[in-house]
Amino acid sequence: MIKNSKSAIYNPQLALEGSQKATNFIREIIDEDLRTNKYDGRVYTRFPPEPNGYLHIGHAKSICLNFGIARDYNGLCNLRFDDTNPTKEEVEYVESIKEDVRWLGFDWNDREYYASDYFDQLYEYAIQLIKKGEAYVCDLSADEVREYRGTLTEPGKESPYRNRSDEENLELFERMKNGEFPDGSRTLRAKIDMSHPNMNMRDPVMYRILHASHHRTGDKWCIYPTYDWAHGQSDSIEGITHSICTLEFADHRLLYDWFLDELEIYHPQQIEFARLELSYTVMSKRKLLQLVEEDYVKGWDDPRMPTISGLRRRGYTPEAIRYFADRIGVAKRENMIDVALLEDSLREDLNKRSPRVMAVLRPLKVVIDNYPDDKIEELDALNNPENPNMGSRKIPFSKVIYIEQDDFREVPPPKYFRLSPGNEVRLRYAYIIKCVDVVKDKKSGEVIELHCTYDPETKSGSSQSQRKVKGTIHWVSAAHAVNAEARLYDRLFMIEDPSGDNWRDFINPNSLVVLTTCKLEPSLATAKPQDRFQFERLGYFCVDYDSTPKRFLFNRTVTLRDTWTKIEKAAKS
Ligand code: ATP
Ligand code: MG
Repeated sequence: MIKNSKSAIYNPQLALEGSQKATNFIREIIDEDLRTNKYDGRVYTRFPPEPNGYLHIGHAKSICLNFGIARDYNGLCNLRFDDTNPTKEEVEYVESIKEDVRWLGFDWNDREYYASDYFDQLYEYAIQLIKKGEAYVCDLSADEVREYRGTLTEPGKESPYRNRSDEENLELFERMKNGEFPDGSRTLRAKIDMSHPNMNMRDPVMYRILHASHHRTGDKWCIYPTYDWAHGQSDSIEGITHSICTLEFADHRLLYDWFLDELEIYHPQQIEFARLELSYTVMSKRKLLQLVEEDYVKGWDDPRMPTISGLRRRGYTPEAIRYFADRIGVAKRENMIDVALLEDSLREDLNKRSPRVMAVLRPLKVVIDNYPDDKIEELDALNNPENPNMGSRKIPFSKVIYIEQDDFREVPPPKYFRLSPGNEVRLRYAYIIKCVDVVKDKKSGEVIELHCTYDPETKSGSSQSQRKVKGTIHWVSAAHAVNAEARLYDRLFMIEDPSGDNWRDFINPNSLVVLTTCKLEPSLATAKPQDRFQFERLGYFCVDYDSTPKRFLFNRTVTLRDTWTKIEKAAKS
């Protein structure tokens, strides 16, 4: 199903102008609760992932929100694994989730909880409801339960097992727990109202029979609570004050309230916000799993994935992700955020702190004919013109260098200020050179080498270097170059909203371009995995985890082109 047109236009200026607190309706609710002393001044949130996949940028929004509120109000935030579904959950996911939350810069201290910690308590609660005549064992199959449920316009039908005695219900429920019945043969259901306008209130299932091993409780249980039965009670047991969740749970709130009221236990307040949706991205864990399993990407942490581990491998910083979360704020209605805003948040962070270096991705050899054969000059280069504290470094210059293939045109188009036959260009931090000859491959006609002359009077930074030319290009000294492979990543989807059923049709076949003959300036020889750089004129790059001194691997994190600013300017004008 294609969703209705959702605007991808979002104005970050609006988010920046109002401080985040002022624009966040959740913080307003908390301020009011503190004013009325609703929870004795406590602010207690939780982040409740289901360990059935890796966390994505949407989860990051929820993490920043929940942990951010706890931090700003001197409260607490629990990490709670909602592990009620033994068949889809794995320890691998638990570990990755913990790593990702920590990497984002948040700490749950010793408050690592699991819904499965509460299985005994939830069982006791269920017995309480049975004794009150509020829950019953139902022998309808899953299909029949669905059939009896009715529709949004028609009331449901009562189960023929609805009026069993409390004694019979207690006995059957215990036998369910003891493993006497096969999977799916019976359920425990809340006895509410089969004609309730809210479908969630039509005798929802609380327990199902499932003879499956659980990653924490092993084979102790063969009945498992549903998410609806476990979630609100878990919040209550932990003393959560503000149970923040995404909009799809708004319809469940009535049911959660009903359970808490019938059990007469502590009552947290549920607040719903709109889930993050990003353009050119799929976010459901089911689809992300399919991307991995069907080999569209190389794993959960493939740099094209919107997972936190993928973004990390791509070179994203936790600061950039937190900044992005601040900028988008919290909304009550669904909206789609332009992925360019995420990229822009990253650029803003990297621009200030990543060192500039020179790297040539698609090398073209240049021989400077009038430069002495074995002369090597050490030239001064700034590490970051935006940040003088980052100092400078020396880069070697010599007779043979590499430039970018794209920085030479045999027949230059109009306004091409780079190198072409007979034309001059400045080499960054070095000299002005002039192209005097072009060597081509005899068979293919491809340009394979240039011959240039340099003007010794034009050394950068020297007092005589007054002469100006229009173009400046980057280069690397051939004798000193470090060989590397670069992986240029692009968006994984070709359309803004790939949420329809045919989403696979829109996967970008060119989302990864691998360049294996890159040449880097020698200062990069000591770079370690996760180190980030700006390759001058090319973009931000980081060293991949799999990089070794023998095979240097760089991921392009993001291009320099600031499409977002352009969009913003266009929106303003
Ligand atoms: P998916 O739909 O991708 O499977 P989920 O909601 O089932 O995700 P959970 O592990 O249950 O995944 O999510 C943990 C927490 O993260 C929940 O509180 C959920 O509301 C929140 N969350 C999940 N996706 C998003 C999103 N896109 N934006 C904001 N919060 C999200
Ligand atoms: Mg969920």
